[in-house]
Amino acid sequence: MEALLAARALLENATPLKGDCGRVCGAACCEPDEDGKGGMLLFPGEEGLYDPLPEGFEITPAPDLPGALLLTCSGTCRREDRPLSCRLFPLLPKEKDGVIRAVRDRRGYIVCPLLPDGLSAFDPGFRACVVRAGEILYADPDHRAFLTALHAAISALKEAL
Ligand code: SF4
Ligand code: SF4
Repeated sequence: MEALLAARALLENATPLKGDCGRVCGAACCEPDEDGKGGMLLFPGEEGLYDPLPEGFEITPAPDLPGALLLTCSGTCRREDRPLSCRLFPLLPKEKDGVIRAVRDRRGYIVCPLLPDGLSAFDPGFRACVVRAGEILYADPDHRAFLTALHAAISALKEAL
């Protein structure tokens, strides 16, 4: 929980662009699906921060990542209620050869207009916060295992396309 809280705090105010990137796209990543819901994976233990659940939220097993939980929302939330996945989006920390980097989250290509422009499209301060959050998360065995499984699932998705 300590690692999770530290990562969430790092990304409390850091955002992909210096301004509000939601103005670029009408906050496409918060847009609910045809059932009126949007969903983001919870990091291990994060469900404990949603008890009691804020109005409009629901927690269900994640269909694509065994053992993980999905937080669904109604398309709006209070800033402090955003789960870590939303705070990191559309980047993710990834470890390779002992080095943590910020990488683009391939799952976001269908919604986020910033992703095709490469990492240089993002505010350097935001990228640095994603890396720092990654260093904290990868140092914790549960979060390391979660991120490793998540990146494997994303790679499998890429190969299936
Ligand atoms: S889809 Fe991309 S540009 Fe739009 S609000 Fe989300 S992160 Fe920002
Ligand atoms: S939890 Fe909040 S930031 Fe995340 S998708 Fe829902 S409305 Fe958007």
